[in-house]
Amino acid sequence: MNNVEQMLLPSITVKNGVLKGCNTVFSERFGYQAQMLSGYQLKDLLTFDSVNAQSYSTIEWLMQHINEPQHGLLKNRHYYELPVEVVCQRSTVDESCYDVFFRVLEDKSIDSVTGLPNGWAMSCRANHLLTLPPKKAPQLAVIIFRVDNFSTLNFRQGYNVGDEYLETLGKKLVALFGDDYLVVRFSNAKFGILVEDHQHVSKVDFETLVTNKCQAICDMTKHPMQLSDNVNVHKSFSVGVSELTAKYSSYFAMEIATETAMHQAAKFSNSKFIFATSELTNKLLMRKLIIDDFPQAIAKQQITQHYQPQYCLASKKLMGLEALSRWHHKELSHISPAFFASIAEDIGLNFEFDLYVLRQVCQQVKTWLDDGFNVPRVSVNVSFKSLEMPEFVKRVTQIIDTSACPANLIEIEVTETTSINNINNLINHVRQVKALGIHIAIDDFGVGYSSLSLIRRLHNVIDKLKLDKSLIDNLCHAQIDQEFIRHIIELGNVLGLDVLAEGIEHHDQQSLLQQLGCKFGQGYFFEKPQPPAQIVSYLENYQQQVVLKQ
Ligand code: C2E
Ligand code: MG
Ligand code: MG
Repeated sequence: MNNVEQMLLPSITVKNGVLKGCNTVFSERFGYQAQMLSGYQLKDLLTFDSVNAQSYSTIEWLMQHINEPQHGLLKNRHYYELPVEVVCQRSTVDESCYDVFFRVLEDKSIDSVTGLPNGWAMSCRANHLLTLPPKKAPQLAVIIFRVDNFSTLNFRQGYNVGDEYLETLGKKLVALFGDDYLVVRFSNAKFGILVEDHQHVSKVDFETLVTNKCQAICDMTKHPMQLSDNVNVHKSFSVGVSELTAKYSSYFAMEIATETAMHQAAKFSNSKFIFATSELTNKLLMRKLIIDDFPQAIAKQQITQHYQPQYCLASKKLMGLEALSRWHHKELSHISPAFFASIAEDIGLNFEFDLYVLRQVCQQVKTWLDDGFNVPRVSVNVSFKSLEMPEFVKRVTQIIDTSACPANLIEIEVTETTSINNINNLINHVRQVKALGIHIAIDDFGVGYSSLSLIRRLHNVIDKLKLDKSLIDNLCHAQIDQEFIRHIIELGNVLGLDVLAEGIEHHDQQSLLQQLGCKFGQGYFFEKPQPPAQIVSYLENYQQQVVLKQ
C-alpha cells in the first residue's frame, strides 16, 4: 500500500488491541469521531470471515497477517455491518502501535438517490438497540412518513425533478435532526427517522420530544419546497410514529405498527402525524394470523356454516335460510366472517373459499333432504370477484352435480364491490349460473357500491334484493329511510324482484316494513344464525306454503 492510498483509506490505530484513534476518512465513512473510539476494543468493531480467525483475538489474527489483506465485517456507528478488506501495518510513528486500513467491498446501506442510509440500515441499528440490556437500552421511537401523491410529481414534472425533490428533502431532514438520529429513505417517497434517547428522560419528556419532531416534519410542508430552475413543489406528508409505551420484540413489529399509523394519517388531506396504538397493531397481527391460517382452515374444514332463517312477513312462515360462515380460531376465538371474507379477497383466496362454502351448503341441503325434511332455498354469500373468475360456472356446476343438491334450492347472494374488472364476464356468468336453476340475490342493497346500472343490466336474472341492515336500523326514526325503502320496494315490484329486509331487530321495524310493502325479512327479531343441528327443528315445521318466485 503506498502513501497516497494510506491517506485516502479509512484507518484506525490500535495499541494492545485497544483503539487509539482514527483518521478523518474513517470518521466520515463510518460515523465514529476519534474521541468516541477511545476505550473500544478492535473486536467490538471488526470480525473476520476466515474460520481459522475464530481461535484468535482480532488483533492477534491481524498481527499474524501483517500486510496481508484479510476479509471481514466492520460495524459502523449505526451497527450495520459492512464487508471490508483489511490490511494491518506496524505504525511508522509509534512502533508499539498498528495502523489498520479498510476498503469497503460492498455497502448496501446507502440509498443512491439521496445518499442517506436506507431501510436495511435502519433495521440493523434498531434491532441492535432493541436487544441491549434494559440499563443500556435507549428509549426509542420510529417515525415513518411518506410524501403524499409523490408519483404525480414524477409523472407531471419528470423523474429528474422527483429525484431532486427527494434529495433536497433528505438534506432538510438531516438538517432538522442533526447527527443525533438516523435518517433514512426506504423507497419511493418514504423516509424514516430513529429517535433515540440515551439520557433516559421521563416518558412525558420523551413523548414531547417525539411529538415536536413529528410536528417539525409536518411544518416542513407549510411552504413549497424550492428546487432548481424555479420549480416549487408543494406536498403534504403522512406521518406514522411507533407506540411509545409498547414493548416491541423486534424492529419488524415496530415498523409494521408505524406503517399502519402512517396509513391512517394518509386518510387526511393535510399533513398529519398519528401514533401507533396497540389496537391498530393487534388488528394487523390478527390479520397476519388469519392470512397464515386461512388456507389450513379451509383444508381442515375448520370453517363451518350457521344458518339464519328468513321469513315471510305476512304469514310469519319460514321461506329461506342464509348460510353464514363461522370460524373458531385457536388464538383469536370467533372471527367475524366479514373480516376474514374480506381478507380472503385481499389475498386472492376468495374463489376457493366461496366454492368451499357452496360445497358445504350443497352437502348439508342434500343431507337434510335425505333425512326426509322439506328444505327451503338456502342462500350462500359469494364475492363479486369470484363470480368474475373464468372457471366459476364450471366449478359451480361440478359442485351441484357431485353433491346431487337440487340447484333451485340454492341462491347466490352477491355484494357488489368497487373493483369489477370484467363486467361482461360477470354478467355472462350470472346468466349461466341462473340457467343452472340457481337463484340470484343482491346483498346489502341500498348502501355502498350497489349500482342501479348493474341491476338494470341484470334485472331479468336477479331474483331478490336484500335491503341492507343500516337502512332498517333507522327506519322507525327517519322519514327519509322510509321513503328510500318504499322506492326500492317499488323498483323491486317494477322489475319483478322479491325484496327482503335484513337485520330486523324489533317488532316495530317488522310491521313498518310490512306497511311499506316489503314481503320478506330476516334478523334477530326472528332468529339468530344457528348451527345445522338446531335448524332441523325449523325444518320439521316447514312446508312449502310460501309461494316463492320460481
Ligand atoms: P351479510 O351477508 O349481509 O349477512 C348478514 C349479517 O348480519 C350476518 O353477520 C348476520 O349474522 C347479521 N345479522 C342478521 N340479522 C341481524 C340482526 O338483526 N342484527 C344484527 N346486529 N346483525 C344481524 P355475520 O354472520 O357476521 O356476517 C357478516 C358478513 O360476512 C355477511 O354479511 C357477509 O357479507 C360475510 N359473510 C358471512 N359468511 C360468508 C361466507 O360464507 N362467504 C362470504 N363470501 N361472505 C360471508
Ligand atoms: Mg348475505
Ligand atoms: Mg347483507
